[in-house]
Amino acid sequence: MAVKLQFLTTDPQEIELAQRYWAMNEQGEFLEPLKNLLPFRELKHSSQIAKYLQEICFAYDLNNLCTCGNAVRIRGRAAVKRSLAEYERYCEDCIEQQRQEELAKEADNKSKLEIALASHIKWMKRKTVVYEEFPDDVVLVLRALYSSIGTRLYAGRFNQTDCYDLSPYANGKFINRLYDRGILGDDPELASPGTYYLYEGSPRINLETAYLFLPPDEKLGSNENAINLLFDRKFSDSESLINLWLDYACDDVTCYLMDQCNLHNQQILDNDYIKIQDVIRDGLRTYSVVQMWCIMYKVTREAASLSRRSYYNQQSATATIASKIRKHIEIANRNGELRDDWNRPSSQIAGTLGTVFEEVFSIDERSRGADVLYMFGQLGKSQQPDDFTAELAAAFMKDSLESDNSISALEAFAEMIRSGLDVEKALIETVRCNPELFE
Ligand SMILES: [Zn+2]
Repeated sequence: MAVKLQFLTTDPQEIELAQRYWAMNEQGEFLEPLKNLLPFRELKHSSQIAKYLQEICFAYDLNNLCTCGNAVRIRGRAAVKRSLAEYERYCEDCIEQQRQEELAKEADNKSKLEIALASHIKWMKRKTVVYEEFPDDVVLVLRALYSSIGTRLYAGRFNQTDCYDLSPYANGKFINRLYDRGILGDDPELASPGTYYLYEGSPRINLETAYLFLPPDEKLGSNENAINLLFDRKFSDSESLINLWLDYACDDVTCYLMDQCNLHNQQILDNDYIKIQDVIRDGLRTYSVVQMWCIMYKVTREAASLSRRSYYNQQSATATIASKIRKHIEIANRNGELRDDWNRPSSQIAGTLGTVFEEVFSIDERSRGADVLYMFGQLGKSQQPDDFTAELAAAFMKDSLESDNSISALEAFAEMIRSGLDVEKALIETVRCNPELFE
């Protein structure tokens, strides 16, 4: 017999039942059919025997040895191995030992994580930021967050779920970016288990479940006065605003695309998703969100009809969506036309970020990408020369006054203006040609 029995009973009838149940020949075949063993006391069905025997006798399979050399305990005939071989099973002692080791490791990780988080919590409680130094795109997202969650932005704590109405599809990426740039802080004391974990000895955070907050302004602290700094902002950073608009508009288009995909039972794989985002973002540099919706509507239908052809299936047809979008953009570029009489679907919100774009820059889903990019481009230009000229003029006045040459300097400047130069060039040329007046 390849099964060793250890009895927990001294009842001879029970011992006999166990021996008959496990009896087998050299080929590993059981000698008695289960029905021969019945009835036995209250047992009527063969399905009850194995469970009954587990209470009165442990069976160890001598053909199934653990790495420690002990035979593995089995609970029924089906588990018996016919011949000696290496199986990936452990005996109960080894399983218990592994469990203890895992528990100890878990406890060790937990205490290491607690130590690491204790200093992180202290740091977060002291963290301040300078609202006036926030880049333009950060200010816009914070204003949208303020619309979404109110004073919880700085006076309380919030997580991604609280801000679901920030943008139409994936609000998390806008919030995560603020965190990654050090604008937002996190509060481990509120977090649910699993939000913080150790990776190669260092604490990591899962931002999807983390509780975040806007730390106090260095000078003004956490209050409405500090928040007003965000509302007083004069926007001028073209590049950051263009990027934020493209990210937001892409999110609005993606939301529509995903709805259409659901409608046709299409599932977009991760790699295809990334490519699709690239193509949509590129299209939005020229076209409006509404025009891109029109393309999304067409490509999902084209992919759906492709999937019905014999040499395609749903997945391979869905994988063509990125190149179909690109094709439609190219056709529109050539023909110079694309439908724009689409309406925002009733279920799709513009989100508070969309509202902020509309309030501050009067742009929305109908604004053409090329116009939006031009508008933001001009915004940067119109601010820059003014600031530069003003700085130049202030330095001109200060230096000429300090060197007691203000009249000569103004005469030289007037000469430059008379020669036809504009204010900025005249200031530069006056200083270049008369350095002695400014020393
Ligand atoms: Zn073992």
